[in-house]
Amino acid sequence: MDFYTLDGLKVEGKKVIVRCEFNVPIDKEGNITDDFRIKKSLPTIKYLLDNGAKQVVLMSHLGKPKGVVIDILKMNRVASRLQQLLGVEVIKVDDSVDITLPDSRIILLENLRFNPGEKENREEFAKKLASYADIYVNDAFGTCHRSHASVDAITKYLPSVAGFLVEKEVEMLSLEIPDRPFVAVLGCAKISDKIKMIENLLSKVDVLLLGGAIVFTFLKAKGLEIGKSLVEDEQLQTAKDLLYNRKIVLPTDIVVSNEISENSKNWVVKAENIPKDAIGLDIGPDSIQLFSNMIKTGQTIFWNGPVGVFEVPPYDNGTKELAKIITNTSAKTIVGGGDTASAVRHIGLDERFSHVSTGGGASIEMIQGNELPGIKALIENKKNFIL
Ligand code: AMP
Repeated sequence: MDFYTLDGLKVEGKKVIVRCEFNVPIDKEGNITDDFRIKKSLPTIKYLLDNGAKQVVLMSHLGKPKGVVIDILKMNRVASRLQQLLGVEVIKVDDSVDITLPDSRIILLENLRFNPGEKENREEFAKKLASYADIYVNDAFGTCHRSHASVDAITKYLPSVAGFLVEKEVEMLSLEIPDRPFVAVLGCAKISDKIKMIENLLSKVDVLLLGGAIVFTFLKAKGLEIGKSLVEDEQLQTAKDLLYNRKIVLPTDIVVSNEISENSKNWVVKAENIPKDAIGLDIGPDSIQLFSNMIKTGQTIFWNGPVGVFEVPPYDNGTKELAKIITNTSAKTIVGGGDTASAVRHIGLDERFSHVSTGGGASIEMIQGNELPGIKALIENKKNFIL
């Protein structure tokens, strides 16, 4: 890695400040509805505690308070949940910078985004955060695509390392030197939204299996009838150009209906026989078989996006079947993108993938091959600080 990691880092007797990703989903009362991000932060926090760190100061944002205090977005519930999961006392303080830290071993600062300095990447704000510790750890992958003070400016003031989660996310989502064959499954609605991702994936993978509404733009580009399926007419030339790439595999059959509603009458047609008045809503059984055969050849499998209208059963069938097929392989399996990650958790298969990304926007940026400001800051830091 081009940045420091926790691996072998001596933290005994040191004060460490950790940027976590505790931006968990909450309900109207502020109760945490899914604590997966808190759970994913535990290995780093435990490593620091087990290896004798004198004090561990944790910090995160929660929601979008826009620089002011909003009661429901205070970190109290995160502190309680974290304390429960760690089995060690977590002291939550009432601000992030306007405080004197107590002497406790684990401290959680108040929501960073209550202070405008966080989003504005302000040096003074970052300097104050840095003053609490000897070492900074970035374990907030979900914020690494932002130039915010707690992931960017702070690295100017302390030796900085990636936590275990950030290290794993970068290793998995950079999609570099994977074991081959490398098969990607990409389900998406529009070429215009995903063109960068498609191009980056094509430069790395051996096979790119395509599903979702994007398929109809490709079928139309081939001169086929697509009925009333979603299409991007202004992207037909791009689709035509992409079709020269032999890595791209399209579905061979489609589940169609006359309407998009739950359990609407539906039937399967060959991809070249979509009726004029039908809408393509999912990949069909032959396509599932074809994709399955290709997925089974893979040593690395990357997946992003539903291959059908996942929100409206039974048009979630193709997506669910592919999830099962992917998790039944012995390949390295990686899920990127916030929606796909929640779909996988919803199906209950998240534990069976090698890696399900915790970063929505950040993971999309990485899959597009873009540089993340939070990761760039860690790389720069390694050039300036000796650990
Ligand atoms: P994206 O927004 O690019 O990540 O693609 C995911 C969205 O595409 C989901 O909301 C799906 O419901 C939608 N989608 C997938 N297949 C189809 C389809 N055949 N027709 C319309 N929308 C689709």
